[in-house]
Amino acid sequence: MPPLKAVIFDLDNTLTDFMRMKHKAVRSAVEAMVEAGLDYNVEQGLSAILAIYDEKGYEYQEVFNDFLTQVTGSVNYKYLAAGIVAYRRARDSSLVLYPHVNVTLMTLAKEGYRLGVVSDAPSREAWMRLCYLNLHHMFDAVVTFDDTGVHKPAPEPFQAICKLLEVEPEEALMVGDWPERDLKGAERLGMRTAFARYGNSHGVTSSDADYTLDNIDALINIVHEFKQQ
Ligand SMILES: [Mg+2]
Repeated sequence: MPPLKAVIFDLDNTLTDFMRMKHKAVRSAVEAMVEAGLDYNVEQGLSAILAIYDEKGYEYQEVFNDFLTQVTGSVNYKYLAAGIVAYRRARDSSLVLYPHVNVTLMTLAKEGYRLGVVSDAPSREAWMRLCYLNLHHMFDAVVTFDDTGVHKPAPEPFQAICKLLEVEPEEALMVGDWPERDLKGAERLGMRTAFARYGNSHGVTSSDADYTLDNIDALINIVHEFKQQ
């Protein structure tokens, strides 16, 4: 096997605890809408909004409009604004990295590995999250949805990141929480794969990845194993 030169990460639910942020922000939004006068149960509101996200995707911007239409038959703009403001405040204070992400990335960078991100998030949202978490200088290259116009597991995002990092797919390890998207596409191109089980948010607990991670810092030992081969 060729030596490992690059480690490439999915962003949401692999580096960031995205679902935790979404849950907290949506709960705050529903509480604020109720406080503004919406007559609805907070827990049911949270479930209803998460169901809309599941159907339309987690970047869907009209989610509160849809929710209000669903439960009241129309959009009350006072409720909507209260929800959006509360959502934004809670989002900005609850987006966090998983434990040991910083030290793992720093260690890999110091050891000379090129680091990349491949995200299906829209470019603006992906870069906002990277900047918010102070990770925007950490990576040698970042590929987001708008860079290729296709989602994983299509080959284009993986090819694009390898090209930017100037490595062959065989020289890269792809880390992600969603095997069908993050790992299948990478594997088809010949990349090595690690399943971020700690971040899994799709009910998947096993995969046929080369490695399974219960902590991101397990990557350090994995790359050391490569060196010894
Ligand atoms: Mg993910």
